[in-house]
Amino acid sequence: MTETLIEVKNLQVRFPVRSKKLFRTETTELRAVDGVSFDIKRGETVGLVGESGSGKTTVGRAILRAIDPSAGEVIFHTRNDEVDVAHIEGEELRKFRQHMNLVFKAGPVQLSSLSGDMLRMFRPRMSLVFQDPYSSLNPRMTVRDIIAEPLVASGMMSNRDEIDARVREIAARCKLNLEHLRRFPHAFSGGQRQRICIARALVSRPDFVVCDESVSALDVSIQAEIVNLLKDLQDEMGVAFLFIAHDLSVVAQISHRVAVLYVGKFVEYAPTEKLFFAPRHPYTHALLSAVPRADPDADFDPIKLTGEIPNPLAAPSGCRFHTRCPYARPRCSAEEPDWRALDEDHFVACHFAEEFDFARPSGH
Ligand code: SF4
Repeated sequence: MTETLIEVKNLQVRFPVRSKKLFRTETTELRAVDGVSFDIKRGETVGLVGESGSGKTTVGRAILRAIDPSAGEVIFHTRNDEVDVAHIEGEELRKFRQHMNLVFKAGPVQLSSLSGDMLRMFRPRMSLVFQDPYSSLNPRMTVRDIIAEPLVASGMMSNRDEIDARVREIAARCKLNLEHLRRFPHAFSGGQRQRICIARALVSRPDFVVCDESVSALDVSIQAEIVNLLKDLQDEMGVAFLFIAHDLSVVAQISHRVAVLYVGKFVEYAPTEKLFFAPRHPYTHALLSAVPRADPDADFDPIKLTGEIPNPLAAPSGCRFHTRCPYARPRCSAEEPDWRALDEDHFVACHFAEEFDFARPSGH
């Protein structure tokens, strides 16, 4: 897992928010994501954690271009042997080659520069699994048609037999019974529905899938089943996941690296083991304090966060965490900390990260 698949550079997403004053309407800018940079390797799972309202979903959707970023770059690195364009023919193929210089040439693709047909043709390379397996499936479509939808909508396949073969293959990989394909979603449990959602996301053999709180609505035993299924599918298909969740114990089970987001900014990014057992940012330490431990008597000094996550419309000056940080000093409210490397794979945004030792023994 050394080959970079996606590079995110200074990603920003801003939304205009209108508010009515006495005689006028004022427009303010909500910075939902404010300068996020990281990379995802092929076949890797990156966990993205943070409290509700921190901007996790917006990061995922901006990478997929479900939301247009306001600034920054998302670069998708393609390979010669992986650009599946068998479905593009004639004039469309010529246009595609001309505009993208992509079809037989490996290299970086600026997702922010794609639009219209080009974006539609690129879509099968990326996908999304939603949180709610109940509302994300059309109750009037059969499971076969639901799974086939991305192939048809993107124009990737039109031959019914080919589509059926691809749907059966991915359904089997997702441990769905083939007789389920004729049924409608109401006939299935939450776990089975999430398998259908995963099959739909993977049917186009994407390189990258965003799982947006994909196990949060499920029972704990079903969560473990789905996490194991995602891991197996990753081993078999080499797909990379951005796994968005607020439950750190689930994130730890599946992620190779974890990023922590606070009010639209990354505060820490590191390999899972390092982040969980030797975090360097007080916010990461506070989130970990809330994770149940195997031994409640173990020597551990948790932080209890007070107050609510700040409103991104009025984000605090300097370090955004200074209003809740128990270690804040005068410099913290005056100066924004740089996003910097502590070592080759551990990044943090805190003025005093080197001073903190939040390490805890593994198993706790
Ligand atoms: Fe806390 Fe200051 Fe570090 Fe921010 S920069 S996390 S306020 S110590």
